[in-house]
Amino acid sequence: MMASFTDEILCAAATLRVDGLFDLLRRARLGSSWIRVLAYHGTPDASIESLEEQLRYLAERFQCVDQDALSMFLNGSLRLERPGLVISFDDGLRDNYTNAAPMLERHGLSGWFFATSTLPSLPESEQLAFCGSHELIVPPGTEGRIAMNWAELRDLAGRGHTIGCHTANHRRFRSEIPAELVESEISTSSAVFLERLGRVPSSFAWVGGEPDTYSVTGLAAIRKAGYRFAFTTRSAPVTHTSNPFLLHRTVLDASMPFGAFRMKVAGASDLAHAASRSALERSLPTLVKP
Ligand SMILES: [Zn+2]
Repeated sequence: MMASFTDEILCAAATLRVDGLFDLLRRARLGSSWIRVLAYHGTPDASIESLEEQLRYLAERFQCVDQDALSMFLNGSLRLERPGLVISFDDGLRDNYTNAAPMLERHGLSGWFFATSTLPSLPESEQLAFCGSHELIVPPGTEGRIAMNWAELRDLAGRGHTIGCHTANHRRFRSEIPAELVESEISTSSAVFLERLGRVPSSFAWVGGEPDTYSVTGLAAIRKAGYRFAFTTRSAPVTHTSNPFLLHRTVLDASMPFGAFRMKVAGASDLAHAASRSALERSLPTLVKP
């Protein structure tokens, strides 16, 4: 579903006067009406300086929401004091654990880490080949073990971060994929997460983000498995009327120039994705909110 007209206006205005808009929102207490969801991938050593600057900026302007807060926000029972924020990281990469997580915590933020259930169990020597054959992009310069292991994922959960599912094998849910294979990706990952982490994740990140990777079959499997939320990469603020299985994220790069980062956080990508977002929302069935 589309963000409200007010949100679109706010985001468009924000692209012109980023910091001024946030100050205005804080003074006018309008920030409680939307949540910005961000999607990172790798956070290699070379990005540490820029990521630090990005997280400092976010911590000064937003408040992080966890799964329960997101649920309450979507059903209208939570009013946020500041604009809400979800900082997510796809693919379960090891540098998220070594670099991003401690940095998040220093700034009083928490992260959502979407991992596959296969990669953490693979020997280090097989991880690069797995990524190559499963369309999983490894940041340049990554050496040694690529993925977080289960102990690290458990540790993140214990430190208050959210662990979400990104399929078993980084599988794109294209429409030509048989329903049995889609359901197997979900059921396999659920069983492994339950065994390794003691719980099945409540949140899911669609893999890929290309137009043909959001399918009716995939949506049916995600809903049937009992997930509360599923996240896309179609950039728009989450509002009270957002579809919980098409929560749009804004893709960022930990190494990107700070000016471009601020523009994207303010909504500069939202208009660029408007047409594809509308097409996606029309193509999948209307859902009853949980
Ligand atoms: Zn991915």
